[in-house]
Amino acid sequence: MASDATGIEALIELMARLPGLGPRSARRAVLMMLKKRGQVMAPLAQAMAQVALTARDCHICGNISTEETCPICADPARATGTICVVEDVADLWALERGGVFKGRYHVLGGTLSALDAIGPDELGIPRLARRVADQGIAEVILALNATVDGQTTAHYIADALAGTQAEITTLAQGVPVGGELDYLDDGTIGAALRARRRV
Ligand SMILES: [Zn+2]
Repeated sequence: MASDATGIEALIELMARLPGLGPRSARRAVLMMLKKRGQVMAPLAQAMAQVALTARDCHICGNISTEETCPICADPARATGTICVVEDVADLWALERGGVFKGRYHVLGGTLSALDAIGPDELGIPRLARRVADQGIAEVILALNATVDGQTTAHYIADALAGTQAEITTLAQGVPVGGELDYLDDGTIGAALRARRRV
């Protein structure tokens, strides 16, 4: 029994590291899974093992999926002339929940930061610039967070794309200063996207 308890405690400690779960919620979740091993725990463990092996960054846009090309880049129904630049996959998911944007994405995976040695290469900005130039992209929407780092990065990208044919726009009202896209409700994101303005 002692080894069992150790294994379960280790699982609870791992679960407690997840966002939104403290030790109490982790304990409750693990207990629920233990009681429903067949219906919940085993399928969950299998799904996690599968995705852990196959998850990767899309080679075109940086979105996370289990394919080399993510479902958005692979979807022929999505407009090819517009690229929406976001900081994180969470922002892409937030925009997709809004259901307003029907173009393609570029996921930066962060913001420029001299302190953390994150430069344009780490954010795939040269790859974005090549994509914009090579594919004749008509519009690049900078949907970055309204934080100092987000706006610094947005200005850098606008400068980097200044020589291309693309019109550079940014989200309009509805994004509060200091606000992060992932925390906005779907309607607010949609309104901000529709009312975007030229940089
Ligand atoms: Zn993609």
